[in-house]
This record gives sequence, C-alpha cells and structure tokens, in this order.
Amino acid sequence: MQSLQPSATLAMAARASAMKADGIDVIDLSVGEPDFPTPAHICAAGEAAIRAGHTKYTPAAGIPALRKAIAEDASRRTGREVTAAQVIVSNGAKHCLHNVFTALLNEGDEVIVPTPYWVSYAELVKLAGATPVLVETRLEDDFKLRPEAFAAAVTPATRMLLLCSPSNPTGVVYTADELGALADIVLEKNLSVVSDEIYDQLVFDGRTSVSFPTLRPGLEERTVVVAGVSKTYSMTGWRIGWTISPPSLAKAIGSLQSQETSNPSSISQYAAIEALQGPQDCVREMCEAFQKRRDLVAAGLKAMPGVRVPDIGGAFYAFFDISAHLGKAYGGTAVTNSVEWCEALLEAEQVATVAGSAFGAEGHVRMSFAASEEKLTDGLARISRFLASAS
Ligand code: PMP
Ligand code: GLU
Repeated sequence: MQSLQPSATLAMAARASAMKADGIDVIDLSVGEPDFPTPAHICAAGEAAIRAGHTKYTPAAGIPALRKAIAEDASRRTGREVTAAQVIVSNGAKHCLHNVFTALLNEGDEVIVPTPYWVSYAELVKLAGATPVLVETRLEDDFKLRPEAFAAAVTPATRMLLLCSPSNPTGVVYTADELGALADIVLEKNLSVVSDEIYDQLVFDGRTSVSFPTLRPGLEERTVVVAGVSKTYSMTGWRIGWTISPPSLAKAIGSLQSQETSNPSSISQYAAIEALQGPQDCVREMCEAFQKRRDLVAAGLKAMPGVRVPDIGGAFYAFFDISAHLGKAYGGTAVTNSVEWCEALLEAEQVATVAGSAFGAEGHVRMSFAASEEKLTDGLARISRFLASAS
C-alpha cells in the first residue's frame, strides 16, 4: 500500500474543484469526463427504477436483462456473437480492470503496457502482484505500439498485453491492420489481452474502432474487452462498466465480485439498459461536439511554437509534447519537468492539466477537451500566454 500511487487525474480534478470552491476562475481540463448531462431518457429510467422498487440486491454479476442488452449491443456493433454468459457488470470500467487483473495475474507475471498509458493501469497491475513492463511509443508513430517493440518486450514471464484504443491519454485510434500485426504476436507468443474499448464510440472523421477479438480466429479465447457507459453516455457517476470474456473467466470474475463488492447499483443497472436500448442520437451528438472541440484544440496546440501533438482520432484528450518548453523559468521559478510545468500553469493561469509523467511519458501534458468551446478557447489562450512568459 505504501508504494501505491493515488490517481493523478482524480487528484488534479479534486484540486481544481477546491480552487473553484474558493471562488478562483479555474479552467479545469484535467479529468476525462464528458461535460454533458446524462441524457434525460436515461435519467428517467433511473428514476423509474427507484419508483418500481428496483432498490435491492441484484445478482452479483448484473441483472440478466442488462447482461443480455450488453451482449446484444456488442454483437451488433462488432459483428461477433457475444452471449450474456460472457458479460459481467461491475462498478465502472476501473473496477472491471481490477477484477480481470485479480482473476488472471499471478505474482511475477509481466504485463506489457505501452506508454503513454492511462494512469490506473500500472498501479492496478501492481496491486494484483504482477509487474507492468512499460514499452515506449513515440509521437512520430502517433504513440502506437510498433510490432517489433512489442515482440522485443516479450519474455518467458509475459502473460498479458494491455491495449487501449481509442486511447486515453493520447486520443490515438489504431487501424485494423495495426491491431492485426499486434494480434499475430499475441497468438504466436500465447498471451492474454485486455482490450480497453471504453471510448469505442467516440471516434472522429468517419473512423471506426475495431474490437480486438474480431481481428483473428483464436483471439476471443484470450481477450477480455473492458467497456462501459461512463464515456459514451456521459454516465461517469452511475458507475457501470463491464467485461466481455470467455464464459469460464466470466464465471470466475462473477465469483470474485460476489465476495468483494456484490452487484453494482441496481438503479444504475436499469438506467444502463435504457442507455443501450433507448435512442442513440445522444451518442452521435456528443461525438460530433467532441470532434469540433478536437479541431479547435489540435489547431490551437499546433499553432504554439515548439508544441507537438499526435493525430487525435477519438476519445477527448490531447497529449502534447512540451519538452521544448522545459528548462526555462516561468514567473521566476525554474521548471524542469511536466509536473512542475502543470503546477506553474495552474498557479499562473489557473488552467488544470495532468503531467505526462503520470502516464509514463515525461515531457508531455494531457488536457481533456471534454469542456465547452468557450472554456477551451480561453484555456488555449492562457496556455499560449503562459508559454510566452517563459524566459
Ligand atoms: N479505462 C479508461 C481508458 C478510462 O479513461 C477510464 C476513465 N476513468 C476508465 C477505464 C474507467 O472508467 P469508469 O469511470 O467506468 O470506471
Ligand atoms: N478516465 C478519466 C481520466 O483519465 C477519469 C479519471 C480517472 O478515473 O482516473 O481522467
């Protein structure tokens, strides 16, 4: 426990909220959370669930109607046949990841985690007693794991590859060919895969997000897909995520969950059924808004001297390189790394971002663009002014 790091994203968000409560005009671009309200029809389903008395324990793995709705949604959108027995519903996708690592990893196992990675991956792997093996990717490759780098990192102790596309924190979306090349190595080396597909519907410019197990025969047996309603339906506080895995593993995860946390909120489960089975216009509308914001943010960052940003194809993050701006003084204080840079930015211009080092990529900073265009425009102007103030 003493070596466990708290979530840097949640820590920065809490700090920005505390500053706002003190009346400070903070632009919070730290946490990755859609700024839209949960769509009204989904909220209504939650209210109806309370009134109908769905306020008791449910089966630990989730109510059958929701597991079925998730299986049908996944089957329809990916083209592979998913059954309800493969689905376990948990308290958000973060809980799903914890469940999977606990169920699959042993002491000494190695998990290949491409960097930059989402803050919780390495810590959750370590909590399960295993070792995250961080494999660097480069901005020039749009932060995508190259097959050669992946193959070179595999040792006899390697158990699993952890993938996230569309990616938090880079917004990068792998193509089917790129994933296919990784899949070949997975099969050859006999590895498991956890494919975090929580942003799969938030893709831009007509891209499609490919679900990893559909790429090659033989992947379904070794892949766990993690997803949920948090991002797609702006339901972060409802805490509903799920795993799709081979049925035997799903059974094990269900047993683990029955001992550790029991079911996720009954009310949230009913709301999630409505999210999946109700009108889907809200998803398209939110995605279109994110794409416009992506345009605004990518152009704004690219216009800043020395700042580099990859091709953002999905999710709602810009992960930009600020290494050219380190080793300078801001307001008289020397700034040598990304943590100090984010601190100085918050201090000088009240813009909250998250340091790249929290994602295993020093020299970079993550900003979320799940904020209004007005706030983003103001935030970008403040960042620009901050960079220009360095000496
Ligand atoms: N995976 C990724 C890549 C995420 O960005 C998040 C956001 N917190 C999660 C998992 C966890 O999602 P949830 O809020 O459903 O636990
Ligand atoms: N996934 C979001 C982020 O990266 C939410 C915060 C968290 O769960 O860490 O900011």
